[in-house]
Amino acid sequence: IQRTFSIIKPDATKRNLTGAITAKLEEAGLRVIASKRIRMTLEQAQTFYGVHKDRPFFGELCEFMTSEPVVVQVLEGENAIAKNREVMGATNPADAAPGTIRAEYALSVGENSVHGSDAPETAAEEIAYFFSGLELV
Ligand code: ATP
Ligand code: MG
Repeated sequence: IQRTFSIIKPDATKRNLTGAITAKLEEAGLRVIASKRIRMTLEQAQTFYGVHKDRPFFGELCEFMTSEPVVVQVLEGENAIAKNREVMGATNPADAAPGTIRAEYALSVGENSVHGSDAPETAAEEIAYFFSGLELV
């Protein structure tokens, strides 16, 4: 059993898609074991996306992620990291497979509705960045 970290991004929370997206995650066999709605600070967004700090879209990305509340979640299941990436679909919704979250809901490559950890190390780091051990049951 594996855990991964997910964010329902501002474009999605704003359009009341939290339930629809969570349903897709659950249908894929992922269990939501922690969930909360937060408004990220600019500093949190910059730290969270630190690996992208030299990319041209970094400023825009951090501004977007702090523009509205987000829902941060911990998902658990068999191969949760890969399974979540699969149900999310490609980063650019134009390339996302039909039926995936991004194919159905994303607005653009930036406003693409969800984040999901890409490896066990980043999943552990990202979970610990937003949740305390006591919140994970
Ligand atoms: P995430 O990390 O959010 O799960 P990802 O792994 O599919 O998405 P990354 O390459 O890690 O994509 O990029 C992180 C995020 O930065 C993307 O989800 C998207 O919101 C934003 N982003 C990526 N590329 C661009 C771009 N060319 N223009 C604007 N925003 C972008
Ligand atoms: Mg990524």
